[in-house]
Amino acid sequence: MTTTVDQADPDTPADAPVLTGRQHPKRDQALELIRQGLTDHEVHRRLRMDRGAIRRIRRQLAIPTAPLQPLTLEQKWQQRVRELPGGHLEWTGSLSHGSQTPILHYRGGVFTAAAIAFRIRTGRDPVGYVKPECDMAHCVAPRHVDDQQTRLRDRQALRDILHMPAVPDRCVASHDQQEFGRRQSDGARYCHGCKMDRKHQAGQ
Ligand SMILES: [Zn+2]
Ligand SMILES: [Zn+2]
Repeated sequence: MTTTVDQADPDTPADAPVLTGRQHPKRDQALELIRQGLTDHEVHRRLRMDRGAIRRIRRQLAIPTAPLQPLTLEQKWQQRVRELPGGHLEWTGSLSHGSQTPILHYRGGVFTAAAIAFRIRTGRDPVGYVKPECDMAHCVAPRHVDDQQTRLRDRQALRDILHMPAVPDRCVASHDQQEFGRRQSDGARYCHGCKMDRKHQAGQ
């Protein structure tokens, strides 16, 4: 079995005999991708391998060109990620204009690659914005991304570990802290409702 990291492609002529005794150096890699259901175009793009050689491998193995089933969203996603050291996944598919966010077009919709990664890991749709928690920008590794809900929960869990008090729902005067909770410049919390009440009382 020959494997090579050589990027040069021998570009076997299209009329080369099917069995020459000498295999295409990327045959095994191509075979693996073809079996995963990738199109000839995608195999060519990834391996920089001659299209005729890809077609011949497919013919020899009698694997039909078009996938028998349309690809699922997750399968399309899988075809567009490349593993990097550290368990990061680089997106090789489309990017959004402007923010360069990895995106995937699927059946008329647009999905962020990170949201799909989150669903692959958790089995549920994300709540809020999904982004990587690792140090690689736009990493789409399922283990590295979290949604907003998870980030908030983790922050609370960290507060628990550090024995920091939970953020209260109401102050002593029952003002809703979602609405009236504020922070001083030193980070200390105070209730804006109570502050206003004190002002009113001072003014009477
Ligand atoms: Zn990562
Ligand atoms: Zn208050």
